[in-house]
Amino acid sequence: MTAATTVLQDDGKASWQLNKQLVTKFIYGSFVFSLVLQAVASLAQILHLYQNHRPGLTFLDYVMDWSSMALSLVGIVTMLFYFIIFKRHGVAKVWKWACAGEMADKPLWVRSARFYSAWTLFWLLGTYLLMVVGTTGTSNMVIMAQYLLDSALCVALGLLLLKVSSWPRRHLACFVFCAAALLVDLLILEKILFVLRFAPALPRIPSNEEIFKLAEHQNFDTSRVRTLNITNAFYASSIFSEIIVIGGPLLALNGPDQTVAIMAHELGHRANRHNLKRMGMDLITETLCNAALFYFVIPNAEIFSLFGFESEPVIAALPIMDIFRGVASTLFQPVYMALSISHEYEADAYAVKLGHGKGLKEFFGALGENRTASKIFEYVFLSHPSNEHRVEAANALMNEKSA
Ligand SMILES: [Zn+2]
Repeated sequence: MTAATTVLQDDGKASWQLNKQLVTKFIYGSFVFSLVLQAVASLAQILHLYQNHRPGLTFLDYVMDWSSMALSLVGIVTMLFYFIIFKRHGVAKVWKWACAGEMADKPLWVRSARFYSAWTLFWLLGTYLLMVVGTTGTSNMVIMAQYLLDSALCVALGLLLLKVSSWPRRHLACFVFCAAALLVDLLILEKILFVLRFAPALPRIPSNEEIFKLAEHQNFDTSRVRTLNITNAFYASSIFSEIIVIGGPLLALNGPDQTVAIMAHELGHRANRHNLKRMGMDLITETLCNAALFYFVIPNAEIFSLFGFESEPVIAALPIMDIFRGVASTLFQPVYMALSISHEYEADAYAVKLGHGKGLKEFFGALGENRTASKIFEYVFLSHPSNEHRVEAANALMNEKSA
């Protein structure tokens, strides 16, 4: 059975028909596929750890392995969580709450703002809580301030959607909304770089001298080499700014050969424009999803009813898209992880090319060369290859070089 109601129209032209059963099958199919994929990857990893048990493994190695296993647990729980929201009509319940009592008499935009504020705060909470848990040394106040600011920007976008969706010209409405969403994304990126500017500068002491010399050699502004209390290092860039952060604990635990290799790896990300490639991909995905709001979600009452709505509040298209995206992102996760993993190998290769292969290998060795992951687990859950595979790849490159 097919049915469709049109909210948005192009000068009276009706929207296309939607097969509700087909959409339902797609959603259920995606849930099942994601769960199976994640479960298979987790089982493969457990089997891999069991088969690769080495006498040299310390308790810490196991904890590290189990922290990557926790990733799979989070992935599976998230998927079940989406499923429950979908099945129990969670989005529609939030809408009902937003319109309950005396709110029923308030204008649509007020109820929409109330609804979408609650949804956004709920939807983004997990990500920011993980940031609070995952980063030490960065002020939790700063993270929570970003959480509130990003939520406010999302609500403003939601209200813009409400406004433009009443325009008779759908293509124009779509263009304006997609452009505004792109602008917000770029703004959020600039904000992240702005916050990172407050990270303390890496002190130019003798043990860090090689890092600075390499930065100068690669034409990287040395005032943009910073440090934070994290056991990680990263290169971040936006349109107007770039920065390299090397975590304090990494500097404390490693000698100059290893820390300069870390710097060479980060400069490899910069030289290969990995951030730009990732950002381009993210923005294209984002724009496609936003366009789908205008041509797929908003014009189809059947999609709203699938999520438990009796009416079709335009703003609800955004949470509905959040769920679609959440499920789809698990389906496409292996593609993203494969891309990210290939970027890591490229950045490692750059460090080897600059002559820091030995330091790089020593660094991964110190991190625990025993850490190991099955390939399928790597491609489903890990954005970085396991240290074991990175050492192997660096060895292969160095042998090639010396041959
Ligand atoms: Zn990297």
